[in-house]
Amino acid sequence: MLFAGYDTPDNHTSVQCAAMIVTDHSLRHLITQILTSAGSPADDARAVADHLVDANLLGHDSHGVQLVRRYVEHIKAGQCKPGTSVVCVNDSGAIMQFDGGRGFGIRVGSEAMRSAMERCKSTGVVLMTLRNAHHIGRVGAYADIALAAGLASIHFVNVVDHPPMVAPFGGREARFGTNPICIGIPGTTNTPSFLLDMATSAVALGKVVVARQAGKQVPENAVIDSAGHPTTDPVRYFGPPQGALLPFGLHKGYGLMLACEILAGAMSGYGTIQPETPRAGAIINNMFSFIIDPARLGDPEAIKHEFDHLIAYLKTTPASGESPVAIAGEPEAQTRAERAKNGIDLPDGTVADLEIALNLAGIENNSLKEIFAIVNHS
Ligand code: NAD
Repeated sequence: MLFAGYDTPDNHTSVQCAAMIVTDHSLRHLITQILTSAGSPADDARAVADHLVDANLLGHDSHGVQLVRRYVEHIKAGQCKPGTSVVCVNDSGAIMQFDGGRGFGIRVGSEAMRSAMERCKSTGVVLMTLRNAHHIGRVGAYADIALAAGLASIHFVNVVDHPPMVAPFGGREARFGTNPICIGIPGTTNTPSFLLDMATSAVALGKVVVARQAGKQVPENAVIDSAGHPTTDPVRYFGPPQGALLPFGLHKGYGLMLACEILAGAMSGYGTIQPETPRAGAIINNMFSFIIDPARLGDPEAIKHEFDHLIAYLKTTPASGESPVAIAGEPEAQTRAERAKNGIDLPDGTVADLEIALNLAGIENNSLKEIFAIVNHS
């Protein structure tokens, strides 16, 4: 059987490291296999694999399969605990607070969202916090769960257990994680859902990793070196000594980044990134979320009418005929359609990380050809 994962789009098998193009289907199998071998229950492994590969499909390679190596390292070090379910630590009407117990963030985050959404049926709005979750990945995935049920959601996230990476506005050294914010609002039959999902750093750290792996530059005003000088070279960011990312939008992005820290870190009960909070070297996310039923706020048809007409109005003013005005979520939907058809292009660095992850997971065969064989025969 031809192994679909390493087919080129025109269906000629490619086993070269450079410009390796894989199907999402085969990547899902590969990542599931790696995580299962690393000690994860099969259900968790499949859910994490689906989340990471979906991030690649949507164009967020920073939050895709390149993370698997680190997940395996964290499992082996006892810092990520596969098979752990979320625990509700405060159930108080429209307030629900959860502890993730260092379980896969993708599992405990989904479980917390589903519990909060169930409560939202009676309360109309839920304020949900989740603490102590291993990396939750692409935050938009949790807004997607709500959107599928016709619910809006707003998420503020902080990143701890990990050295800081982002300098405060006016600062020289890193003091924050990349603290993402996400807002999902259900679409209509005419208009796709609004899904704003963004790091509050000018670029996500994973994008700097991917730029270094691909030998590319990062955008201007996104990174400083260890001396505090602006640079577009990801190699100068990593040093050593390591420089810092910058918040997006100067003092405004910095303010939102700080809000994530207080809402998600302090109000979830886990802690912020200040030095008293332990740093074991893994990635722990805390999340502060609102889940909202728009139907409880007014006539759903009137809200949809406004949404449709607003977006149509925005779209009448493209700066050029070639690039229409988009709404948040549309670029990802476009990339998903393109990558589902043509495959996912894995840079050399990601392929190398996958090989290391295979080794760490205890799978003996570790060359690319052998990876194909493992997936093909699993
Ligand atoms: P990004 O800059 O690529 O996109 C940010 C948002 O802008 C998206 O909602 C996108 O749809 C929208 N957008 C992009 N181009 C647009 C256009 N032309 N018109 C209108 N809207 C447009 O995203 P990012 O900041 O690099 O974040 C990437 C991912 O990293 C996100 O999924 C985020 O949740 C994730 N993340 C996770 C963590 C964590 O600790 N778990 C930390 C940081 C980031």
